Amino acid sequence: MIPYGRQNIIDEDVEAVIKILKSDYLTQGPTTPIFENNLKEYTNTKYSVALINATSALHIACLSLGLSKGDFLWTSPISFVASANCARYCGAEIDFVDIDSSSYNLCPIALEEKLIQAKKNKRLPKIIIPVHLSGQSCEMKRIKELSDQYGFKIIEDASHAIGGEYRGKKIGNCEYSDITVFSFHPVKIITTCEGGACMTNQKKIYKNLQSLRSHGITRDPIEMINKKPGEWYYEQIQLGFNYRLNDLQAALGISQLKRVDEFVRERNSIANYYNKIFKGHQFVRTPKLINDVYSSYHLYIIRVDSIKRKNIFDRLRNSGVFVNIHYIPIYKHPYYKDIESSSLTNSENYYKEAISIPIFPFLKKEMLDQIKKVIDEVDNFQSIF
Ligand SMILES: *Cc1c(COP(=O)(O)O)cnc(C)c1O
Repeated sequence: MIPYGRQNIIDEDVEAVIKILKSDYLTQGPTTPIFENNLKEYTNTKYSVALINATSALHIACLSLGLSKGDFLWTSPISFVASANCARYCGAEIDFVDIDSSSYNLCPIALEEKLIQAKKNKRLPKIIIPVHLSGQSCEMKRIKELSDQYGFKIIEDASHAIGGEYRGKKIGNCEYSDITVFSFHPVKIITTCEGGACMTNQKKIYKNLQSLRSHGITRDPIEMINKKPGEWYYEQIQLGFNYRLNDLQAALGISQLKRVDEFVRERNSIANYYNKIFKGHQFVRTPKLINDVYSSYHLYIIRVDSIKRKNIFDRLRNSGVFVNIHYIPIYKHPYYKDIESSSLTNSENYYKEAISIPIFPFLKKEMLDQIKKVIDEVDNFQSIF
């Protein structure tokens, strides 16, 4: 089976991890701050907090922005469930903004319409989470303008997007947001096995994220409520979690981050090849990019005639190509059945037509041709299904 995405691990990565195994620190030690520092430098951001996964990153990102019961959080329905679950972890209400029919990202026009309505009803969101689907940035400049106008905070879910760029700058730099979240799950651009990070330019948020990642405990006398009686002393000053990335994972992250540009270049070259072979295709629509973006191409999503979609999907799976659908709209999951979704027309249409075909570094061109051949043949066999 060819997966839709997979990690790329070389001897250097393995050696970096072994070195840590033989060192004094297996939990979070001196290596994690180096990884954090490298992430900061790579994205040109002031602060970085490494975490056990992007799900925990989204959770404490919401907490650090004060999300709680009675608040609203809005995100894109075309995302992994974690983009919405973080609201529920904080006791907040979730709602969805429809996607743009061409970029498949949260649509700024739909967002503005929804904000106007929400202002009338006094139900404005506290946080909006734009998701950079496939690694293509959302229209952050416009979303930031709306945030200034309506007073919500922004968390970019850039789980797909490390290595991508928006308006000539690296995604993650938080120019248009309060916090950006990365995922280092093996199917994503770089991996730490499981892992994630929060990026921010705001010191107060950074301090709070650090505290929330580590039980809400402080060892800094300035932050303590009581006077420090001795060197053993620490204080828990809020309810936090154990969301710390360990040094083994950080060492892998440092090693992987060295190759992020190469990975993204490779992914772009595969995307360009697909674009070329599917150009003018009868029933395949290739992905479209907005102006001023460089996508990291975590996913390559094609859209096909909805009547043919299942057939194409099954034929690809049966031929050993593990295609997938990203994503089932979040509101369609039974857990979210009570969410109002009647206005999410573009998301509905997208879900009927989308398929993610394999894309990962060093996937062979012959394989891409083979995938196209299986898709092409679907028409010939249409009648028997
Ligand atoms: C993968 C993913 C997450 C969750 O990442 P984990 O690191 O597995 O917790 C969140 N949001 C999106 C859009 C994702 O693709």
